[in-house]
Amino acid sequence: MNLFFYCGLIFLSGYMINMFYITVLYHRGLTHGAVILSPAVLKFLEYTGIWVTGLDPKAWSTMHRLHHLHSDSKDDPHSPVHQGVFGVWVGQYKSYKNIISRILDKKDPEINRVSDEISLELSWISKHGFSNFPYYLHIAVGLLLAFSFGSVLLGFAYVLGLLSHPVQGWMVNSLAHRYGRRNFPTNDHSKNNLWVAYFVFGEGLQNNHHAHPGRAKFSFKFPEFDAGYWMCWLAERVGILKINRF
Ligand SMILES: [Zn+2]
Ligand SMILES: [Zn+2]
Repeated sequence: MNLFFYCGLIFLSGYMINMFYITVLYHRGLTHGAVILSPAVLKFLEYTGIWVTGLDPKAWSTMHRLHHLHSDSKDDPHSPVHQGVFGVWVGQYKSYKNIISRILDKKDPEINRVSDEISLELSWISKHGFSNFPYYLHIAVGLLLAFSFGSVLLGFAYVLGLLSHPVQGWMVNSLAHRYGRRNFPTNDHSKNNLWVAYFVFGEGLQNNHHAHPGRAKFSFKFPEFDAGYWMCWLAERVGILKINRF
């Protein structure tokens, strides 16, 4: 086996872990209840979520619920309509940091209500201003891999695989609210962007998702494909969660 094989393997493993946390546990589970998470899985998410993904599950879910409540209006935390296609890259990061501060200062009634609906606590490191630590940790592990195996590429594969969410987030929040087709007449600019859906495990099917946020499967018809749903299906088979089929 050559080095490129191991780099590919590490990148893909990191990417899959990241996707499982964000699209299955954070998005379909914690935020929308499209998959039901047991109290034990929720506790596990509360402790591990930020360390694995770099994103606090409560802050992410609060931001995402605000996105559904105010899609593409000026109060949307991330929208290409108000921030521009490339502006969403920085916009989503600023909104995320801003939401952590607003959850903590408890002065915004809407943030209080939305964040209170999410059944877990803000992580200790977010509360105490250390929310960048998981990134430093992953970079340290990447450097360790690079030095141990004499390959910078191996270290990059690890870091890029696990911490790819700013790219995925930008593709979904920006491209899938600007370019693509619509199946449903929702009150926003959400689109079904097939390429984003293929790369980001179904998340590019924003129009379908905005029309049916409680549905675990984002795809409706060929050639739409939602790999995230099949992750849910597999996780249900091994007893991690239960798909809400209403
Ligand atoms: Zn959206
Ligand atoms: Zn959603």
